[in-house]
Amino acid sequence: MTSWLSVDTDDVIHLPSKRGHPHRSSVPMPEWRTEGYQASSRLLSATDHFIQWASRGPETTIFLIAEQLDCPEFTKRLDTLLSMPNILIACHGWGHRCWSAWPEDIVGFTEMLTAARDRISAYAGDSWRPWFRAPGGYISTWMAGPLAAAGFRLDSSVNPSRWVNRKMGGNWSKVQQSMEQCGVIERPWLTTSIGPACGPALSLFPFSIPARKAWKRNSVSVTNNPEIGETITLYWHLLDHERKSGRWKPPLAKSM
Ligand SMILES: [Zn+2]
Repeated sequence: MTSWLSVDTDDVIHLPSKRGHPHRSSVPMPEWRTEGYQASSRLLSATDHFIQWASRGPETTIFLIAEQLDCPEFTKRLDTLLSMPNILIACHGWGHRCWSAWPEDIVGFTEMLTAARDRISAYAGDSWRPWFRAPGGYISTWMAGPLAAAGFRLDSSVNPSRWVNRKMGGNWSKVQQSMEQCGVIERPWLTTSIGPACGPALSLFPFSIPARKAWKRNSVSVTNNPEIGETITLYWHLLDHERKSGRWKPPLAKSM
């Protein structure tokens, strides 16, 4: 089976404990539109390590947060990534708002999607793909229609693990059904028998142990087109590249 690799560009400010969630965040977020983003030194350094990895790495999709293009230092690093033939760029929202944790807001979500799509696609040009990942995995059935209407062909927000069913209103399969009905391809994240295997789970005991094994097993063959065929979705965070004094790498098969 082929795998699709993707990395989310979240900075420290984008943690739901900081911003984007109605109850969990320390910084209020009344509007989706944010301005004046400046990358943290941690993210800039992580991006430098990621660039080193990606320059000899496999095909990888970057899920970018649109507001990050406000920061010249971060954008300079993205320019380097954009010049690489193995890098594609997709959409991780505008300011990392956790949409399904807020009341249903089709108008606001549509405005955000359109603005983020226009900004990221204008920047990325040929490397742009109309693919979406919901910040924090906060996806809900009502979000499928706006995604399809804004021209998104694929969503990769579903974490089909019993640990996160609560966030999906108890049933992530309803989300998958809505996506299918709207003609949006859903690519749920890889899980193992004990729980999640992507994102934070990669470094979180006990999930990390089976997760790393599953990644190695499932990354022998990599695709840059998750719209076609059966695909296993593997994702991590740019900030992970700050681990182990910058020597951290996604746990891929040796051949990668
Ligand atoms: Zn994120």
